[in-house]
Amino acid sequence: MNRVLVIAPHPDDEVIGCGGSIAKLAQSGAEVTVVIVIRRERGSRDHAVTDEEFATETADACRVLGVKRYITLEEPSRDFAVDRRLHLAVVRLLREVRPDRVYVPHRDDGDAEHQAVHRLALEALWMAQSDFFEEAGPPAPPPSLVLGYEIWAPLAQAQYTEDVTAQIDLKVEAMQCYRSQLRHAAWDEAVRGLASYRAVTSTGRGHSEAFEVIRVSGSPV
Ligand SMILES: [Zn+2]
Repeated sequence: MNRVLVIAPHPDDEVIGCGGSIAKLAQSGAEVTVVIVIRRERGSRDHAVTDEEFATETADACRVLGVKRYITLEEPSRDFAVDRRLHLAVVRLLREVRPDRVYVPHRDDGDAEHQAVHRLALEALWMAQSDFFEEAGPPAPPPSLVLGYEIWAPLAQAQYTEDVTAQIDLKVEAMQCYRSQLRHAAWDEAVRGLASYRAVTSTGRGHSEAFEVIRVSGSPV
C-alpha cells in the first residue's frame, strides 16, 4: 500500500483522528496526502493568532507526521455547504492521488461539519470511480480500504484498531503544533488518553487508534 489520502474537516482533525496511523504509514514508505476542507473558525481566544500562524500549525504538524503533501480547501465554517464545485475539488484530488487507503471522519461524529465532510467524502469516492466530472480526469479505481476515524465522538463499536504505540509520541507532538487549539483544551493529553483506552480495550497495552470500517476491497462504498 503506497498512497494514502486523509480527508479532514478542520485543521487538527487529521491528527486527532489518525495522526498515529499517518506517522506509521509514512514510516513504512507510504505517500500520505492530507486535505483539510474547512477553514479554522476563530474563537475569542484566537484574536492574537494570525492567519499565517494558523497555516504554520498545519505545516508543522504534517512535517512531524511525515505527510508528503497537504492541501487546504479553505471552505467557510458555519455556513459550510457541499455543492458541485466542492464535489469536483475532492473528485479531482481522488483521481490525481488514486489512493489505496482513505481516512474520513466516522459516520456518527457529533459535529455537524464533521458529518457533512463524512458525506462529502463518501459521495466523492463514488463519483471519482464514475464517468461523471470528466473535467476532473479519468475515473480512479476504488481504494482497497476506507476507514472512519474518531474526532468529536468516540465510536460505539470500534471495528478496526491500529497499534500506534511506537508513534504515539509523534501524534502528541503533532497535536502540540496546533498551539492555538491547546489554548481551548488539552487536546494533546486527550489524544494520548483515548489512544491508551483504545489499546487497553483491544490488545491490553500500548496505544491504538480505533476506526469504523467503511469499505474493504470488493465491497461497495
Ligand atoms: Zn473538526
